[in-house]
Amino acid sequence: MIQKRIESSGKYQVCWAKNLAEARDILDQPDNDFFASLLDFNLPDAPNGEIIDTVVARQIPAIIFTAYVSEEIRQKVWSFNVVDYVLKEDVLSLEYIVSLLTSLEKNHKTKILVANNDADDRQSIASLLKVHHYQVLATDSGKDALHLLAEHPETRLVIAAPELQDMDGLTLIQKIRRIFPKEELAIMGLVAKGEHIMAARFLKYGAHHFIVRETFLPEEFYCSVRLLIENIEHFLQLRSTALQDFLTGLHNRRYFFITGEKLFASAKRNNVTLVCAMLDIDFFKKVNDQHGHEAGDQVLKHIALILKNRMRKTDIVARLGGEEFCILAVNMAPEAVRDIFEEIRKRIEDSEVLLDEGATRIKVTISIGVTTQITDSLENMIKKADFLLYDAKESGRNRVVAEV
Ligand code: GH3
Ligand code: MG
Ligand code: MG
Repeated sequence: MIQKRIESSGKYQVCWAKNLAEARDILDQPDNDFFASLLDFNLPDAPNGEIIDTVVARQIPAIIFTAYVSEEIRQKVWSFNVVDYVLKEDVLSLEYIVSLLTSLEKNHKTKILVANNDADDRQSIASLLKVHHYQVLATDSGKDALHLLAEHPETRLVIAAPELQDMDGLTLIQKIRRIFPKEELAIMGLVAKGEHIMAARFLKYGAHHFIVRETFLPEEFYCSVRLLIENIEHFLQLRSTALQDFLTGLHNRRYFFITGEKLFASAKRNNVTLVCAMLDIDFFKKVNDQHGHEAGDQVLKHIALILKNRMRKTDIVARLGGEEFCILAVNMAPEAVRDIFEEIRKRIEDSEVLLDEGATRIKVTISIGVTTQITDSLENMIKKADFLLYDAKESGRNRVVAEV
């Protein structure tokens, strides 16, 4: 049942051993490289968890699956640096195992910063995290912690102690929060037993959670770490979908205006060239009428890809709606503007979208209006580009009208 459930996720191949001897045979085969192991505490030839030692010694993450956990077994299990233990209860245990495997995979890419003055504490927290395959950054200094975060802004969690070599933990949290809001980076405080006031202050200063140094359980620690990181990722995911066009993956209208306003203001202040182009597919209604809406969607994706590939990462390429796109680019050499958009127009004209395994070929053209004249507002710049686009349509379509 376990094997079937794990394999049904489509990501893993499972080897099954009935006892310690068989497990050793499998582990000794040279080509076997295991991502994780699921171990019963009691095996016919190894009743006291001997299998755990065998597997953990080979650096394979171990999840213990057992029918019964006494306090003694629990302690023993954790003494081996295992990932977790799971009680054989019902079908939910199986789902828990699969979720553990999935998070082990994801954790490889997740960075956690441990800032702690005490070398032993720092070490033990880092090794707990490493068992779960998190990428750990560790330091005893607040300054260093801030540097590490600047260098690794994708860090999801900071575990901070009250004392650091050069500043206290609360100051560190304050400094972190000036740069990273609560939605983007989780902070967990590590406080000593009885330090209730310190725990409360950690929360007030912007930590999400705290654990008590002397008494926290690994179960509690791992669950909290996972929950905090999941919340951050959930938020980042929501934010990115709110700013992305679901069909083409380009930025959407909302993103375009939020980021475009900033780009516009900075271009105006620094006197750099800003290029605004409006693009609209020609006779797109006909594509839908002739080939169906689904085919129309494929054409939109195809055009989006051409635009994205041609522009730089720092340019904004957005689908403003329907079959209308807008590009905002900084620092494009004025003498190159016409050629660049002419090239885009040509690329689209020369390409085709193949559907039904090549049985249907759709070709479209695009009209483009381009301006480089920075006016009083982004809105007016877009209006200008739209006006030029209208000229392109009126004068026959499949052309670029640029005012450079
Ligand atoms: P013109 O050359 O003057 O731009 O002609 P056109 O047919 O492209 O212009 P029009 O604005 O009349 O038609 C745009 C069409 O785009 C109508 C609409 O059905 C289609 N459209 C808008 N959004 C989508 C979409 O998300 N998917 C698909 N498949 N079609 C869309
Ligand atoms: Mg249109
Ligand atoms: Mg159109």
